[in-house]
Amino acid sequence: MKQRNKGQCFVCDSFGMHDKLRTYEDNKVSAFLSYNPVTRGHSCVFWKDHVLFSSLSKRDTQYLVDVTTRISRVLKKVFGSDSINRLNYNFDNETPHAYFELIPIYHNEVERTGFYYFIPNRKKTESFEELTELAGKVGDSLETLFS
Ligand SMILES: [Zn+2]
Repeated sequence: MKQRNKGQCFVCDSFGMHDKLRTYEDNKVSAFLSYNPVTRGHSCVFWKDHVLFSSLSKRDTQYLVDVTTRISRVLKKVFGSDSINRLNYNFDNETPHAYFELIPIYHNEVERTGFYYFIPNRKKTESFEELTELAGKVGDSLETLFS
């Protein structure tokens, strides 16, 4: 297992800070509701060790995709979104963790232009307490699905 460099990586630092927003964790990945969601249910799923996407083994890549698929199913159910965008911004850039953003799409709130969804800037409407409660709901549903 590769060394994690706490204090030098904003992702590793956020693992502790956002404990209450965690929806899923195992020995490989950690998932959270975003503290500043672009849509309701916006989540981030990180590979816990410092491994870039391009260095992730085929087996681990499949594992990450599988976990994000399960989480997407739960987000769709809990938040009632029409779909989920699974995005990987900054491939091998900016963060030393392979990760996906899961962005629930609500068709009545977005514009679709060809391949892209335009998501208008949104002010965060959920309080930290509400986000914590929602993270609990997602976590409970995931426990049911994973067990
Ligand atoms: Zn890190």
